[in-house]
Amino acid sequence: MNSEMSREQCRQCGRPAVVHRLYSGELLCEQCFQLSIVNAVREAISKWNMLQRTDRIAVAFSGGKDSTVLLSILVEIQQKFPDSEVLAITLDEGIAANRERIDTLNETTRRLGVEHVVSSYEELFSLSVDEIAERAHATQSSLSSCAYCGTLRRQGLNIVARQVRADKLALGHNLDDEVQSMLMNVLSGDLPRLARSTPVQEGVRHWLIPRIKPLYHIPEQDVALYASYLDLPIHRARCPYAEESLRTEIREWLNAFESRHPGSKFNLTATMGKIISSLPSQPPELIHKCRNCGEPTSGEVCGACLCREELGFSKGGSQERGRR
Ligand code: SF4
Ligand code: ZN
Repeated sequence: MNSEMSREQCRQCGRPAVVHRLYSGELLCEQCFQLSIVNAVREAISKWNMLQRTDRIAVAFSGGKDSTVLLSILVEIQQKFPDSEVLAITLDEGIAANRERIDTLNETTRRLGVEHVVSSYEELFSLSVDEIAERAHATQSSLSSCAYCGTLRRQGLNIVARQVRADKLALGHNLDDEVQSMLMNVLSGDLPRLARSTPVQEGVRHWLIPRIKPLYHIPEQDVALYASYLDLPIHRARCPYAEESLRTEIREWLNAFESRHPGSKFNLTATMGKIISSLPSQPPELIHKCRNCGEPTSGEVCGACLCREELGFSKGGSQERGRR
């Protein structure tokens, strides 16, 4: 809030405004702002038919602002749907510098009263991100630790969501994440992946859990402000392996453009959505069983097994664990 805004009133209720949304011109007090975010999530769920009344929803919970906001809003919404369930699932990547993180996350789930299931790259893939970083450096891999870590996370979340018998896996991707991904796919000419940039990704019953992104229409700065009003701890420590990437460049460019032309991010997602829906329908991705570990993959070998092979880890860990 700035001093100018302290004299302004919320357009909804007349209380002092704390937020001026440049992209919509709205002036809102704290309560009306929070309500607007919860309502935006409800609308996204309804518009994209993300949830059914009896769904068991596993929220991918890293403890950062996005997943904490998502978890807290889904817990609030779930209260009106007593036949549904919300739980949190976390993957411990095995980063020694972030060892305290799980305690923070346990505190949040305890306060929200939700079940918290923690698994780890070590349990699932017999490796840690600390080891990946070391091997990637030693083998002078062209891929970053983040590229390997992201592949393992996608697969690991699916495995854990399946283990906890979730019907849906909810991800905390916000509007900024989505616009960045779309632009990255445009820049790399990856049309099939662009066509899959949707708020709901279908699954395969009992094997590939459907993924939903209820924060799809909420800008990152709104998520950050909402998080600041929550009485919950947020894990903010930076991963030691986080690095500058194409995404960082696009993020900075988009933020600068948005500040000069408010509403650009919304316009970009809306335009991309129209382009995606006018594309000739893409054949559904064929999903096979990985020949090493049995996990779903569009190729013969899944991403996690390819990571292990590339970095020179034996096939055993992934293979044996995957077949249990
Ligand atoms: Fe993994 Fe990269 Fe995120 Fe670190 S910053 S947790 S290595 S994806
Ligand atoms: Zn595999």
